[in-house]
Amino acid sequence: MFDDQSREYKNQFVALDAIDVDEYKQFVGDKAIEELKWLAEPLKDKVWANVNSTFIGGGVAEMLRSVIPFARGLGINCRWFVIEGAHDFFSVTKKFHNLLQGIKELDITMEEIFHAYLETIQQNLEKTRVLAHMVVIHDPQPAAAIMSGNIFGHILWRCHIDTTEASRRIWRFLMPYINQYSGAIFTDESFIKDGLQVPTYQISPCIDPLQPKNRQRTHEEAIKTLAPLFEKNNIDGKRPMILAVSRYDIHKNQKSIIEAFKKVKAIPSVKKQKPIFVIVGNSASDDPEGMTMYKTICDEIAGDPDIYPLLNIENNDEYIGALMKVSKCFIHVSTKEGFGLVVTEAMWHGTPVIGSKVGGIRQQVIDGNTGFLVEPFDVEKITSYMQLLLENKETRENLGENAIERVRKNFLLPTLIKKYLVLMRYYLEIDAKNPEFRINEITYSEIRHAIFGKNSWTFTSEEIKDKIGKLLEELETTNINFKDR
Ligand code: UDP
Repeated sequence: MFDDQSREYKNQFVALDAIDVDEYKQFVGDKAIEELKWLAEPLKDKVWANVNSTFIGGGVAEMLRSVIPFARGLGINCRWFVIEGAHDFFSVTKKFHNLLQGIKELDITMEEIFHAYLETIQQNLEKTRVLAHMVVIHDPQPAAAIMSGNIFGHILWRCHIDTTEASRRIWRFLMPYINQYSGAIFTDESFIKDGLQVPTYQISPCIDPLQPKNRQRTHEEAIKTLAPLFEKNNIDGKRPMILAVSRYDIHKNQKSIIEAFKKVKAIPSVKKQKPIFVIVGNSASDDPEGMTMYKTICDEIAGDPDIYPLLNIENNDEYIGALMKVSKCFIHVSTKEGFGLVVTEAMWHGTPVIGSKVGGIRQQVIDGNTGFLVEPFDVEKITSYMQLLLENKETRENLGENAIERVRKNFLLPTLIKKYLVLMRYYLEIDAKNPEFRINEITYSEIRHAIFGKNSWTFTSEEIKDKIGKLLEELETTNINFKDR
């Protein structure tokens, strides 16, 4: 298991040093940051660990890269552990992901579950112990780690996936693990299915306005930044651009966008403008299907000279930010989408988004106000909104301004951090009141605890304390104080 404090990941230097949180005042105001400092005061030096399965690629890694330095800036000892696995591990967890997002025809063998999945997790946890006041385990890949017996603290499962139509098989497989957690966090209430017996909370993902990708820049600056990319790929930067950015993945539905673009550029009034469509994509290290999907998309494009599929671009963050700034509209019509950070990023650059009415995209795009919402396969509608946004500057600007404000109020880093601080205070019994973003009523796990609580232990509390004391000594951990809880 990779631990960010080793500061090196696959030969890459990792620096997630504390940042000065006051720098965020320019985006969310002084009051919001002062409130965070106040909330964090009793959490100074407490440990908040995060566990996921990739350090690079995808929305979770993107967010953790900002969450860790921000929390450290507030004085919290925030950590990031990454489960490492071989191809068979990521192949089975990708199946979990697809089944959770509603794909039905997928077979998982016992060999995959017991050997590739459970065994890999166990091996990771044999070498590293995670000991923290709050542990957040992200997504299904490391979910079973809770049973390893080597993670200590208040452990929460954070589901980033759109599970609206999750296959019952996989949901039932995961539930016994999830029900061992102290709570579960979802992006949208509608993602929760039956069988969950732990407290649930709603937290939306966020973007970091200080990251190069999200730094707001002028049109001229963006054009200048993009010059090498345009030159390398033979792109005429003066032509109006439609943009899509995502992993190459079946749920991202890039095929429908290509179809719509081919239609819109054939409309005579649009044809005169000579629009181009740029698709930028990467493959995350925990996603073994990326390359196959990229090839499928290239086949779909069939050599159309106005469509530019780009893969793993260098200078990724600067280029993506600049592309989002200069494009006339951004398209993201996934069939399932936990949240869709790319939507937030494009909106923050003032670019209207044509998004699908699914998952977390619905939280962000307000139809007719910050962009347009469509059914994922409604190519006709996508085409007509593309035409509108290519041809109507005023609509583009109005929607774009509203989009920026929507992100500022709801989806910037400090908003997300606040919810985690509230959770940490709640679990450490600093605050007694349930967080406002708690979703469900009192749960079976809480009732069981309230009724049987202390008496249900085989060991006396003295014996437990003794055991914890020995564990701490063994780990030589100085910054955990169990008495503080
Ligand atoms: N991304 C990127 N380069 C790419 C494709 C995607 O940096 O070529 C980033 C994108 O900007 C976003 C994240 O990867 O920050 C994807 O997150 P999202 O929530 O949209 O989708 P996920 O991959 O988690 O399903």
